[in-house]
Amino acid sequence: MMKIEVNHDYIDDLNKLLANFKMDNGFELSEDSLFVNNILDFEKAFSLNVEFMGKKSALFLFKQVSKNDLRYANRRLIVDFLTREFGASYPYGVLLGIRPVKLVRKWLNIGISTDCLRHILNYTYMIEESTIDKLLSICYLQKRFLTEGEKAKKSVYISVPFCPSRCSYCSFVSNDILKFKGYLSPYLDSLKNEAYLKLSEDGLKEDIDCLYIGGGTPASPDLEYIRAMISSIGRYVDIKSLREFTFEGGRPDVLDEEKLTYLKSAGVTRLCVNPQTMRDDTLVRIGRKHNSDDFVKTFNIAKNLGFNSINTDLIIGLPGEVREDILYTVSEIIKLRPDNITLHSLSIKKGSRLSVSSEDVLNYDLSDVYLEVLTMIKEAGYNMYYLYRQKNIASNLDNIGFSLQNKECLYNIRMMEEEHDIIGLGSGSTSKNFSKNSKISTSLNPKNLDTYIQKYSYLIY
Ligand code: SF4
Repeated sequence: MMKIEVNHDYIDDLNKLLANFKMDNGFELSEDSLFVNNILDFEKAFSLNVEFMGKKSALFLFKQVSKNDLRYANRRLIVDFLTREFGASYPYGVLLGIRPVKLVRKWLNIGISTDCLRHILNYTYMIEESTIDKLLSICYLQKRFLTEGEKAKKSVYISVPFCPSRCSYCSFVSNDILKFKGYLSPYLDSLKNEAYLKLSEDGLKEDIDCLYIGGGTPASPDLEYIRAMISSIGRYVDIKSLREFTFEGGRPDVLDEEKLTYLKSAGVTRLCVNPQTMRDDTLVRIGRKHNSDDFVKTFNIAKNLGFNSINTDLIIGLPGEVREDILYTVSEIIKLRPDNITLHSLSIKKGSRLSVSSEDVLNYDLSDVYLEVLTMIKEAGYNMYYLYRQKNIASNLDNIGFSLQNKECLYNIRMMEEEHDIIGLGSGSTSKNFSKNSKISTSLNPKNLDTYIQKYSYLIY
């Protein structure tokens, strides 16, 4: 029986830490099924208590501790208890944020030695040694992308929120292109208006060296539409001199040879073709309309066209998949030798079909197979170059971008490390602006298509 009686300030933290434990162990994500934690506020001390299935643990703290120390003490109590008593997996210890590499960089930037930092990460944040290795290696690799000269450059992100069908795990802004056909044209008009408003400033063109068209599935509209979109952005972005132009082609079922040939000629340097898994039965189960052969065919066409970099996205923890399926997918992908492999751990978010149909949700710990996968990819010659975490991520893991040498994606590093300006266009996109004192101002575009289209429709392009 779970009962949480805890200072209101910390309940969100505890729920986040518990969500992964419950998911891995097949407990229902209901409020009252698992656990007791009380904070008794004595005159001079706090008592933090935890109890679950007859096992108990407690921590006493003198009241002089700051609010932040108390918050971390709470988290440490939970992580220590569940790890010790139930073998729970917390590779990131008490960290809950999505950008752990940023935390490591912050410490390194103040001049602390690596040994000392390792100690802090391990003792204060309870991060596992193997995770610390990972974070440090990414931090060192990213150094050359985060120099002062690099930080003066800007990226543009364009969101194309349409997909040929909705994947069961998806919680992104994506709209079925058949149902939302009528929105395509007004969406493009609003996108052009927004580009005019945000990108026509004098001198900006020279600073933009990176363009990313993502989604959704940007390849899902027809070729004329894609052509019109890229040519309208070409008014403000010098496409031929970009260092990187990513087109998140997405699914193989919407990327034919004609589109790929056009994309190459239009200046795309990095293409994403995403199988997610090489098991055809899983692809059907998650609602994708392509099979693994379609993926290989599309991948080979793209390879022959000579894109500078091809990325493939994979997900571990998909419904119904076991260790053998995951390892099979990874070995098949490695054989194709993409320049980038982006490895996602399934994250079940509100808004996805999986979050409401519990029968397919993963209920085993992925930690061991995940380590096998990391080893396979590393031994194949790939380096980890960016990393982020998500809420409700399977087995408390992470998402990692791997790259062959000198094929790292600029945009992914910039978006995750938050030290560059990013100008976001389109529904659901985010713009980030950095001032000299490292303050970030963020603005979000509406996720709802009607609201977005309306917001930028007043200006006739
Ligand atoms: S292709 Fe991507 S954005 Fe589209 S439904 Fe699937 S996961 Fe979501």
